[in-house]
Amino acid sequence: MLDADFFRRWLTAVAASVDREADRLTELDSAIGDADHGSNLRRGFAAVADVLAREEPATPGAVLTLAGRELISTVGGASGPLYGTLLRRTGKELGEAAEVDRTALAAAFAAGVAAVAQLGGAAPGDKTMLDALGPAAEALGESFAAAAGAAGRGAADTVPLRARKGRASYLGERSVGHQDPGATSAALLLAALAGTAGEAA
Ligand code: ADP
Ligand code: MG
Repeated sequence: MLDADFFRRWLTAVAASVDREADRLTELDSAIGDADHGSNLRRGFAAVADVLAREEPATPGAVLTLAGRELISTVGGASGPLYGTLLRRTGKELGEAAEVDRTALAAAFAAGVAAVAQLGGAAPGDKTMLDALGPAAEALGESFAAAAGAAGRGAADTVPLRARKGRASYLGERSVGHQDPGATSAALLLAALAGTAGEAA
């Protein structure tokens, strides 16, 4: 079973991973965006780790909703509200339970991903974070490692796509041949989840 501490450890691991990979995320965003994805997420998840250490929310749902709120208020770019919505909605779906199992998390996460799609208006194949999050949500019913693997493949598979949402869409054909920064960070989130669960991707 997964308790509040599991979710706190997951998001703290995300903060560390995003900090390590910030330069790569920014490099990807400099190719097809405005070169701020690494700094956006570094700032956002550092604030998440801080607030979780300070406030120690007692349930998985409360950890995720607090983290989502923090991302929305600290990240100015498109990714802040989108990841914030993902975590907030997933947390809301988990309700007040003190512990949840992976199956319940998979269902809640799928609702969170649907909320991201609704907020951003992106569909699969539009070369966004959804191309990693969508396959991960489906595979999470199977295992944490499967979800991390699916997110990684989804991110890699954005390379040949033409962006149809977000800043990268302004480039049209010139967005082809680059991996989407948001899909890449989504894969980091899922890899950290598998790592926290003790499952390598
Ligand atoms: P900004 O584009 O405002 O500079 P970031 O650089 O932090 O924000 O994030 C860019 C990432 O956000 C993109 O690589 C893409 O994955 C994701 N993104 C942008 N717009 C959308 C959208 N409408 N739906 C889903 N994801 C999106
Ligand atoms: Mg950007």
